[in-house]
Amino acid sequence: MEFLEKLGIEKNNFGACTGRKWYMPKTGELIAVSSPADGKLIAFVRPVSNEEYETVVKTAQAAFSHWRLVPAPKRGEIVRQIGLKLREHKEDLGRLVSYEMGKSLQEGLGEVQEMIDICDFAVGQSRMLHGFTMHSERAHHRMYEQYHPAGIISIITAFNFPVAVWAWNAMIAAVCGNVSIWKPATQVPLSAIATQKIIGKVLRENDLPEGIFSMITGEGSVIGESLLNDRRIPLISFTGSVPIGRHAAEVVAKRLGKTILELSGNNAVILTEHADLKLALPAVVFGAVGTAGQRCTTTRRLIIHDAVYDKVKSVLLKAYQGLRIGNPLDEKNHVGPLIGMGAVTAFNKALEAVEEQGGRILFGGDTLDGPGYESGCYVVPALVEAENDFPIVQAETFGPILYLIRYKGSVTNAIALQNDVRQGLSSAIFTTDMRQAEEFLAATGSDCGIANVNIGTSGAEIGGAFGGEKETGGGRESGSDAWKAYMRRQTVTINYGKEMPLAQGIRFDLEN
Ligand code: NAD
Repeated sequence: MEFLEKLGIEKNNFGACTGRKWYMPKTGELIAVSSPADGKLIAFVRPVSNEEYETVVKTAQAAFSHWRLVPAPKRGEIVRQIGLKLREHKEDLGRLVSYEMGKSLQEGLGEVQEMIDICDFAVGQSRMLHGFTMHSERAHHRMYEQYHPAGIISIITAFNFPVAVWAWNAMIAAVCGNVSIWKPATQVPLSAIATQKIIGKVLRENDLPEGIFSMITGEGSVIGESLLNDRRIPLISFTGSVPIGRHAAEVVAKRLGKTILELSGNNAVILTEHADLKLALPAVVFGAVGTAGQRCTTTRRLIIHDAVYDKVKSVLLKAYQGLRIGNPLDEKNHVGPLIGMGAVTAFNKALEAVEEQGGRILFGGDTLDGPGYESGCYVVPALVEAENDFPIVQAETFGPILYLIRYKGSVTNAIALQNDVRQGLSSAIFTTDMRQAEEFLAATGSDCGIANVNIGTSGAEIGGAFGGEKETGGGRESGSDAWKAYMRRQTVTINYGKEMPLAQGIRFDLEN
């Protein structure tokens, strides 16, 4: 395939990189990477061994001592050039993301665009690493806060955003003066390798040392574990599921390291009796079936007022019947494959469970086979009537299942249902009633990190801080002041007077 060649993806790929230099471990089983779109083998990757791991971390340590002294706007200039280089390779990288992960080509391209956008954002941020100044209570004293780079940041990413989540973290971390080590998900290492090759060009053109942007591939349980336990890495940014994120948090907390956690969602849209359904329903369908339900912000629960329930159900049934399922590289298709057979099994099991727990499958749930579906990863998105307190509804099943949940009475009841799950990532309300919208946004309203009015749950703009509450982990990344998490904060007090006022008026009369 031409785009693989253009991106430098070979049959056997090196599994570790320190920016420009690649390392091919001598031992270790090759990871075979195949596409969920057609089931075909794309290439092999040799996972990093302990020896290369040490080399990568030591190189990053050395790079940090240089990079933190480069003025922040000059670091921003390197990120600006990375953004330009990504623009040149957008088409090919977007195609690889789509082919390797299985999201639609438009979404693959959109993901690379997010990388470009965060580069632009980070360039501006590089001139705005502000601290506050405050008035001291002591005469002739000055106080202010400053932010210094933290060190090596490890970025462990989930399969569903093979490149964008890395960029959200790495570009902001870089302008802040940090170096990073990326561990992409095992299912999608080729998009990471291609990205690394693209940014390697910028590092070469600017004659920068090795170790500013590094990458290692391998199993989470092996190499991910090394990162979590490594005291040389003060901050782990982890994106993934709740069980593994919880484990990551425990391991890193044990050594009193820091984490940014971006974990599972269980996102709901509330449709009140005052919803503009023309606006709402396309957003709901896109939110539920886009990326085959494999977004952290996918709409999983639809909480519908009794007065509009039947209408919503019939429009959705019609919309689901018209969905085109197939190869994500074909722009005519709405729904691509799940990431692998494990995900298909989880989808089927969730549907069995919902029936056992008293729910009703209204549409979908089949696994497709035959021409075009050889990978075995294509399923028909499911519409299911359920109750919010079913155990299966309380869990995040990473696939296209939309639970329709009926509510009666005031919007307060809908908000209570929406909040009654353990996760807290994205939430939305559709209403034209200002009071309902404001109730949803009030302190007693949505308890999620993202709260949208008349916009679906899926996706987010890079300018805001992205992340969620409760079991979603509490981390924030991307825009707003998320950059602060990548820095160590220091309060500075300077005495420019001729006296030494001690706390609580204590005096030491020393002669000298
Ligand atoms: P996952 O938890 O299986 O894996 C995430 C990453 O952790 C991968 O890189 C994996 O290799 C690594 N890993 C596995 N075991 C590890 C260990 N012992 N130590 C360190 N790292 C280890 O998640 P996934 O299936 O790749 O992604 C889907 C999940 O990610 C969903 O739950 C989704 O909601 C979540 N997600 C959340 C966000 C967000 O921003 N909140 C974004 C994308 C995905």
